[in-house]
Amino acid sequence: MYSFVSRDDGSSVYSAVSSILLETRGNVWKRVARESPKFNLMLGERNGLPYGRLGHEPGFVQIVNYYRGSGCLCRKTSMVSTLCKQWKETGQEPFEWLPPSFILYPNITPEQEEQSDLKSFIAQKKRSIKTDEREEFKQYFERVRSEGKGCIWIVKSAAGAKGQGVLISSDVEEILHFTDSKSQAHIVQKYLEKPLLLSGDRKFDIRSWVLVDTQFDIYLYKEGVLRTSSEPYNATDLTDLTSHLTNHCLQEHSQNYGKYEEGNELFFDEFNRYLQSQHSVTLSASILPQIENIILECFKACKEHLSTAGFAYKSFQLFGFDFMIDEAFKVWLIEVNGSPACAKKLLPSLAESLIQTAVDPVFPLSQEQQITAENLFTKINYNLTQ
Ligand code: ADP
Ligand code: MG
Ligand code: MG
Ligand code: MG
Repeated sequence: MYSFVSRDDGSSVYSAVSSILLETRGNVWKRVARESPKFNLMLGERNGLPYGRLGHEPGFVQIVNYYRGSGCLCRKTSMVSTLCKQWKETGQEPFEWLPPSFILYPNITPEQEEQSDLKSFIAQKKRSIKTDEREEFKQYFERVRSEGKGCIWIVKSAAGAKGQGVLISSDVEEILHFTDSKSQAHIVQKYLEKPLLLSGDRKFDIRSWVLVDTQFDIYLYKEGVLRTSSEPYNATDLTDLTSHLTNHCLQEHSQNYGKYEEGNELFFDEFNRYLQSQHSVTLSASILPQIENIILECFKACKEHLSTAGFAYKSFQLFGFDFMIDEAFKVWLIEVNGSPACAKKLLPSLAESLIQTAVDPVFPLSQEQQITAENLFTKINYNLTQ
């Protein structure tokens, strides 16, 4: 009998994984108490997962659903520095598929420095300011503006999510004032000013689910979802965030939520039909190869951070990659999420496929127990030494 602990009731994906293990593999898997030291699988919490509890139980093979170092990809600022470092080391052209992005820390004014209650905060900020990229940003801003490549930028906080606390602006002073007024680091990223639009001139982003198993094999989920906007895209009005940010939690408040697509979600089959009929391109020929390439490049850049070599436990992790497509059908990476939610419609199948890909190979089922449900994760072929 294998055993698992489930420590994050707030995760829809891992609640589903937990139920499916018991429903379909109940004769081999049992759930044990959250604090039990004896378990094979830990479905841990997204923040503050107790990695220290893993790998101490003699005779127990233990795996956990997060890579300890995944922040290097899933924190917005860290992703930028991880990728830039990789491009520098390999001599690759930077920002080929990540919109140009710079890391900004809040600046300290001389008045603030005088305030003694802020001393430790300031000391900390001064250390981080060393890597502040505001001068590079200002130069880059001027360069792309003068080349006629647009001057709109988007500012996002390091640990931000769900489209919260975002600024879209074409005014450098406004951008710096915004980041200086905050207490955490931000990235300022080139705004994709000419996105591919759907019927009704609406913007969208693509969510792809990516699974990295305990052997560091990388799998892409066959199904993906477009999160669509409810309002027509208007690059001249940067204040109407509903037309610019496609997160559900913002779209939900629009009068037109659900008007074009149920729940503002469009799935790959339908998107592919749209691409074929309106633009004579297909998802499989034009879009997915770019998506796979970006995913591989990301894991190449962070494989050292994610390595569990020498650990007494192993990790796997589900990632949510957010992409956008521009009007030339070029795919851009927007961000990587380390504990993605999943569209309701896809959840049971995603959870079952996740178990088949990341759990069953480590804890095999017997011949009689074989599962017949389809596994929708496909391995991306790669060689990380390349
Ligand atoms: P969050 O963690 O808040 O979802 P994202 O980086 O995904 O952060 O940004 C939220 C939304 O903002 C995206 O879904 C997309 O619609 C829009 N967006 C983000 N970055 C860009 C960009 N560089 N260009 C255009 N739109 C963007
Ligand atoms: Mg996010
Ligand atoms: Mg997002
Ligand atoms: Mg994130």
